[in-house]
Amino acid sequence: MNLENTQLVPRMRIFGTTIFDEMSGLARKHGAVNLGQGFPDASPHSAILDAVENALRTGKNQYAPGPGIPELQQAIATHQARFYGQTYDPDTEIAVTFGATEALASAILGLCEPGDEIVMIDPAYDAYPALAALAGARMHRVALTPPAYPKDGGIVDAPWTLDVDRLAAVITPNTRLLIVNTPHNPTGAVFDDTTLAQIAALAIENDVIVASDEVYEHLVFDGRTHNSIVNLPGMRERTIVISSAGKTFSCTGWKTGWACAPEPLATAVKGIKQFLTYGGGTPLQHGIAFGLTLEDEVFAAEAADLQRRRDYVVGELAALHIPITRSPATYFVTADFASVGFADAEAFCRWAPAAIGVAAVPVSAFVADKEPVKSLVRLAVCKADTTLEAGMERLTAAFTKATT
Ligand code: PMP
Ligand code: GLN
Repeated sequence: MNLENTQLVPRMRIFGTTIFDEMSGLARKHGAVNLGQGFPDASPHSAILDAVENALRTGKNQYAPGPGIPELQQAIATHQARFYGQTYDPDTEIAVTFGATEALASAILGLCEPGDEIVMIDPAYDAYPALAALAGARMHRVALTPPAYPKDGGIVDAPWTLDVDRLAAVITPNTRLLIVNTPHNPTGAVFDDTTLAQIAALAIENDVIVASDEVYEHLVFDGRTHNSIVNLPGMRERTIVISSAGKTFSCTGWKTGWACAPEPLATAVKGIKQFLTYGGGTPLQHGIAFGLTLEDEVFAAEAADLQRRRDYVVGELAALHIPITRSPATYFVTADFASVGFADAEAFCRWAPAAIGVAAVPVSAFVADKEPVKSLVRLAVCKADTTLEAGMERLTAAFTKATT
């Protein structure tokens, strides 16, 4: 995006072009292996494709109701009950949205007046600060502490951690919304039960609403299960659970998401959503309504296959003596490229597509204070085996020498 002569409102200019478009653009331009933007190479389950095709061919091609087709609202309610034991009224407590992004936008715009405060945890998904700015809200960003990345390489299993005292310190009487994202993009972290309980206690004590971004809810590894903050005592009435079919079913381009919340919060989401885009993607909504009814094994198989690919990438980077996290969840691992001479991950990511034919994303794109994560690179492991192999070959060719 060229912002030199832009008429874009000033408060949105600092956001420029998203890091994902920038890096995927470089990947296309240079024919690089795209380990940057988080989208899989795989297609959705063929039964879901059949359900969409059937909807397309049986006249399901007009507007959906603003809050979503009833079949999908019901399927989401059943999904929340089945996986998390939470009961939602499909009609009054569930809104289908254009991806998790529109659910976030609707929650932020629907709940925050200009000047209200939003607290988010850094690294934060790029849409959070941009949407907060769009709403005219003030934001406070509290940084997670990264684990130590051993200088001479190795696999990092230690977690990213949240200093809850620092979170408490930024909450004021004007704090309206706290955005929590677990499993977490870009770190691949999963907040443990203690951390979630501490966040929940702060939300309750300060009467703050929580937007819980759970788009990676089904992509958790090594026998773990996703734990939603909504399940903690006192949280059901103040949490907007936000998710999306994109990651779960490998259909990021369908942009079918949702928000589940008590009626007063769900109506706030719907009140905005209906005027952002109204209701659409109707055949896709039918496909996801079907997908959510698939048996547990289908969800588990996706996670297991992604875990296998995570292990492959982690093993390859470890062999290059590049320190790398064995992420407990998500599409992503993070590696410290200072070990191979790149103290600045942004510089590496702008250089790598043309120079070595690999695209990645700097973790610094997700934070206000870049210094503690300056040399960290996010790699997407959600790609096909052939894509990952090509990426690893290129990294190996580039960095084997640097490590000998
Ligand atoms: N939140 C997080 C943490 C994400 O990683 C993403 C995107 N991948 C989104 C929200 C947006 O989801 P969607 O593509 O469904 O809008
Ligand atoms: N969530 C995806 C990622 O983190 C990208 C989504 C987007 O391009 N907006 O890579």
